[in-house]
Amino acid sequence: MLVEAPKTTWTDRILLIDLFVGLRTTFRELFFRKKVTVEYPEHRLPTADKFRGMFRFSYERCIACKICAMSCPIDIIYIDVGEETKEVDGKKKKIKVLERYDIDVKRCMFCGLCEESCPTKPKSIWLTTGTYELTSYDRNELYMNMQQLEYWEGRPEYATLEEIAEEQGISDKKKLPAGGGTK
Ligand code: SF4
Ligand code: SF4
Repeated sequence: MLVEAPKTTWTDRILLIDLFVGLRTTFRELFFRKKVTVEYPEHRLPTADKFRGMFRFSYERCIACKICAMSCPIDIIYIDVGEETKEVDGKKKKIKVLERYDIDVKRCMFCGLCEESCPTKPKSIWLTTGTYELTSYDRNELYMNMQQLEYWEGRPEYATLEEIAEEQGISDKKKLPAGGGTK
């Protein structure tokens, strides 16, 4: 397919308007914005809504269909399903019971295909938990079972840039750098 390049006008060529627009942003950030220091780990900025971090799993919602395991391109979700006989409305019925749901998180590439393919609403497995602190001194700790995936501690306290700025004595929010994030 042939794509025509946009025609440049004489003002583009001579006055380099784009360059000056860019420089205006640079100078504004350099001289007119207040500087806020985010001192990690005392301060943590929240992640974007779509950020993929640590998994969370819900045993209650899961229907043991194994679709997430089939969708995982590197086969790191291990599911075992058993059967139980239960009485439903006076009749004995065989129902599926989830016996094992493990994820080898250390090998995960956070593609999100498991979450995307999960048919339950809301999802039974999801990565948008907003935590980026997944480090460990022992690789084996990153192999997580069903209980760990369901009951891990959750994300630590986050503060917005506005809150950190206020702590540092900057009250004029208009002068804060762009992209501070929201909680
Ligand atoms: S996010 Fe991890 S576990 Fe889920 S499909 Fe991708 S590689 Fe597999
Ligand atoms: S987490 Fe979702 S896709 Fe995976 S087995 Fe449970 S219901 Fe099925």
